[in-house]
Amino acid sequence: MIDMQHINKNFYIGTPNELHIIKDMSLTVTEGAFVSIVGASGSGKSTLMNMVGVLDRPTSGDYILDGIPIAKMSDNDMSDVRNRKIGFVFQTYNLIPRSSALKNVELPMLYAGMDRKTRTKRAKELLDMVGMKDRMHHQPNELSGGQKQRVAIARALANDPAMILADEPTGALDSATGRMVMDLLHKVHKEGGKTIVLITHNRDLAAETERIVTIKDGMIVSDVSNKPQSEEKVEASCS
Ligand code: ADP
Ligand code: MG
Repeated sequence: MIDMQHINKNFYIGTPNELHIIKDMSLTVTEGAFVSIVGASGSGKSTLMNMVGVLDRPTSGDYILDGIPIAKMSDNDMSDVRNRKIGFVFQTYNLIPRSSALKNVELPMLYAGMDRKTRTKRAKELLDMVGMKDRMHHQPNELSGGQKQRVAIARALANDPAMILADEPTGALDSATGRMVMDLLHKVHKEGGKTIVLITHNRDLAAETERIVTIKDGMIVSDVSNKPQSEEKVEASCS
């Protein structure tokens, strides 16, 4: 799904200053995997996510997403790939403020050119799946943080993307609400078969995923496959 080779990202903050934030990073993620990326604040997680999510280009290096070379693509082609292939979930939800939950979930389908009837039907199904059907006419400011994040997850699924990128999706939530959001991501992974990349600084949440990639100062310092704790528990209770 993700094939990044020798990616660098520099930010120019006025000559002669240049920040080298992502350093010769190579990362591959297979289709259907649930991977977490952990690292301290400022380590480059969001910068990496913006490139994985085709929101930004690497300064150098190659990126192939689901067979599509991204690194030298035009802005228009990038937004097209993004809308078709990737669903985003952010710490701050990023919902459209004066639009209902329903309209928020419909929006990516509108961009994709889907007709009104089909997108309304699908948006309602997705809101039902995340347990928000009874709140579909509410605007974001009438919803709790956890409810907003559930709407954001429904929106991320709107165009049936191959991959969900979640950047600190539980970062603004209390632990019980964060738990609910994680359960929903597990469900999307298991039942929807989506590739999920979870960015978090919470090691306990990372421990629930199949692989943990740790980054420090823009470099991968460890990459381990992991037996998710929930599966261990199931095995223990069977034996
Ligand atoms: P994380 O998500 O791990 O907290 P970020 O990727 O947001 O880290 O940031 C990594 C580093 O890159 C930080 O030092 C940050 O200040 C810097 N950075 C991020 N975006 C920009 C930008 N657009 N211009 C300049 N520096 C940036
Ligand atoms: Mg970040």
